[in-house]
Amino acid sequence: LDLERVGVHDSVETVFPPEELATYLAAPSFEAAVIGDDGIGGCDAVVTLEHRDAFLECEWVHSIQAGVDRFPFDAFSAHDVVLTNSTGIHDRTVGETVAGYLLAFSRRLHDHVANQRDRRWGRPDWDEAFTLPGKTACVVGTGTLGSGIADVLGALGVRVTGVRRSSEPVPGFEEIYPTGELLEAISDAEFVIVTVPLTDETRGLFDAAAFDAMRDDAYFVNVARGGVVDQDTLVEALESGTLAGAALDVFEDEPLPEESPLWGMDEVIVTPHCAAFTRDYFRDVGDIVRENVDRLESGESLYNRVV
Ligand code: NAD
Repeated sequence: LDLERVGVHDSVETVFPPEELATYLAAPSFEAAVIGDDGIGGCDAVVTLEHRDAFLECEWVHSIQAGVDRFPFDAFSAHDVVLTNSTGIHDRTVGETVAGYLLAFSRRLHDHVANQRDRRWGRPDWDEAFTLPGKTACVVGTGTLGSGIADVLGALGVRVTGVRRSSEPVPGFEEIYPTGELLEAISDAEFVIVTVPLTDETRGLFDAAAFDAMRDDAYFVNVARGGVVDQDTLVEALESGTLAGAALDVFEDEPLPEESPLWGMDEVIVTPHCAAFTRDYFRDVGDIVRENVDRLESGESLYNRVV
């Protein structure tokens, strides 16, 4: 691939200004420009948030997200289009976001913010607030997100266990369960945190059996993808009190529809798919793209290649 023109698709605007990345990528050997849908045709490679069928005419597409479930893999391989993703950069951001959810629940910060909006001096009941050391968080998926979460929660004294496809140990996790033992793994955790990619295997992984297996006083956290969870069943579990609460960054439908009951639940924190946001996001993505440009030039295989 002889890279002459790299487009930064304007869909990245949801996460950072496209011009910032185009400027960051600028190099003497190729041109980097912000493009809309009508500019895709002139590019050898595109960096993007969303998918467009016109990308099938390019040679290389880079997703600014780690999750690539919205791209049609079969069509990419049929058209010989390479797809790379941004796995590897979201450990600290998502780790800190998840720690924030846990601290909100334990220190009741979400209640105080809600009360403040009503100018209400409302102290928690004597037995509502707690501390994190000694509590167990089971992290399902032990990749970049899972490891970042284990790191930050570990520093807060949380006992972190993990679920992955094999039972090999992973640094930062006190205990590892294979996916086949998911129900056992989540059954004694005060927090269950999902970080697996959305695939045929993980779609609907959190169903009635999973929520039944969890403790009644457990909190459920999803920073992966909405499709990994049966959302109606989650709502039922929250309404019937078989779960204590949830922090959700991702949903079956995004934006979360206004009529969703999740918006109105006291023990649910809703965030708008921004767990990985940081003002450094364009640099982190830019570094992956630059690394791959170097690899293309030296004929090496691409980093984070998915298709
Ligand atoms: P990653 O590739 O580093 O880690 C994913 C891990 O999940 C891998 O270790 C993989 O082996 C494991 N896995 C896959 N299928 C599994 C299964 N069936 N059971 C157990 N483990 C399984 O990716 P990452 O950067 O950690 O991102 C993970 C996912 O999180 C992404 O695919 C994306 O959907 C989501 N994500 C969300 C946000 C957000 O803003 N909320 C940000 C980044 C990533």
